[in-house]
Amino acid sequence: MRTIVAGNWKMHKDRAEALALIGVLKDVQVPTGVEVIIAPPFPFLAMAVEELKGTSIRVAGQNCHEKAQGAFTGEVSASMLASIGVTACIVGHSERRQYFGESDAIIGEKIQALLERGITPIFCCGERKEERMTGSHFDVVTEQMKGALRMFDNDALKKIVIAYEPVWAIGTGLTATAYQAQEMHGHIRALLHTHGASVAETVPILYGGSCKPDNAAELFANPDVNGGLIGGAALDAHQFSELIRIAGERERSAAIR
Ligand code: PEP
Repeated sequence: MRTIVAGNWKMHKDRAEALALIGVLKDVQVPTGVEVIIAPPFPFLAMAVEELKGTSIRVAGQNCHEKAQGAFTGEVSASMLASIGVTACIVGHSERRQYFGESDAIIGEKIQALLERGITPIFCCGERKEERMTGSHFDVVTEQMKGALRMFDNDALKKIVIAYEPVWAIGTGLTATAYQAQEMHGHIRALLHTHGASVAETVPILYGGSCKPDNAAELFANPDVNGGLIGGAALDAHQFSELIRIAGERERSAAIR
């Protein structure tokens, strides 16, 4: 299974800054077996697609609307993203759940819209701090997965990327330990197994939450951590390039095993 390094830029950077970062990334040697995805803000997506032509780096949206078109002021559809060459899209990020009230059912509809347009959904799930403190984190993630993914058959599930992002670790500098990450990724893998081994062995599970060059090697060394969804460190060309290199190390050691 490939190792993915995906960068979520959130609402950061202006045009010149975006161009500068993309300019560095397009010269990065992407190691064999590693897939790199960047998710800049909507206004810079078409430019990113254009600038990254001829490289293997994929461009992702950070969100999309569940409907194909209509009177939804301020929204962007999956078909619009597909029409400019975007091939992946983050859905269900905890910030969308928290600030925009996105439910698991809506997230499921967004995934459906993306799959219909041939776009890879990067489905985010993860528990809040109080849920971990009370020991309900496995149940919370199980419910999020069931709520958003229950309508999909195995062929559809195999096209999805999952990102486990404990909310208490996002942008806080707190990271799940390698043990905590593997424990939850193993749980998610077991849930995927209920759909059959072919689903469990196909769907990458990324870790997100203050993942940086100084902790990535330990996190990525876990058997069920297939790379990272990166926020803060994706805004810095050096740190993001370093994460791509570390993902390459993971691929190399997997090849030796
Ligand atoms: C994210 O928001 O997806 C994320 C992982 O952010 P950070 O790396 O900054 O915690």
